[in-house]
Amino acid sequence: MQVSVCSDVGRVRKVNQDSYCALTLSEGDQTAFFAVADGMGGYQGGEVASQLAIDTVGQFVAEHWQEWGSADRALDGLRAAVERANAAIISAQQDPQQAGMGTTFTAVLVQGETMFVAHIGDSRLYALGAAHVHQITDDHSVVGELLRAGSLTEAEAMVHPQRHLLTSALGSQTGAHVDVSAQGWNAGDVLLLCSDGLSNLITAEELLQTLQSSPDFSGYAARLVELANQRGGPDNITVLAVSREGAQ
Ligand code: MN
Repeated sequence: MQVSVCSDVGRVRKVNQDSYCALTLSEGDQTAFFAVADGMGGYQGGEVASQLAIDTVGQFVAEHWQEWGSADRALDGLRAAVERANAAIISAQQDPQQAGMGTTFTAVLVQGETMFVAHIGDSRLYALGAAHVHQITDDHSVVGELLRAGSLTEAEAMVHPQRHLLTSALGSQTGAHVDVSAQGWNAGDVLLLCSDGLSNLITAEELLQTLQSSPDFSGYAARLVELANQRGGPDNITVLAVSREGAQ
């Protein structure tokens, strides 16, 4: 597997509240864990929440994935890990500086040709093929629901005034609803995780064009971040892309 990653504060914000991880769990078994989280909350809250989610789930997966012999158990395990992260964030909110903090969380545990996805909020996981882009995760946002209902186009959603309003996130006192699913990973497909600082500015088609515009896969994430910054970079931008092959 080859990874291309870039996380940037953008052109407007003072602090990068996004976090990510890329963990190789077993090279022989082609098992790895990737995650992106986009924190929210004043003071240091957003950074704390996104890092806590990444660390809590990453550690749980690293300790337990070998016990998960079936897809059902892997999905149950991921769900348990995310629930643990939610509890850790809610507990840490007792610090007044971290009151109200929360985070999105999008992760994929890959094992050869299979991937297990856990997702809450509006960060995204895409699969990019030779001629198509498939957005695997549904945005848990007001605009995401309107889009799925057919009330908005992708272009309208990207500029909608309520595009930042989430319907679910980690740290939510009203309950965190996490989506988990098992999917196939086609050999030629590139997986791409990103925060909304990218997806609010770059269309799915542009993700594919940028991938195909250069043979340098290791620089792919940085090229997307640069493109988002050229468009104003109003938010933190995190991109983590994974290829099963070597160079693209
Ligand atoms: Mn964001």
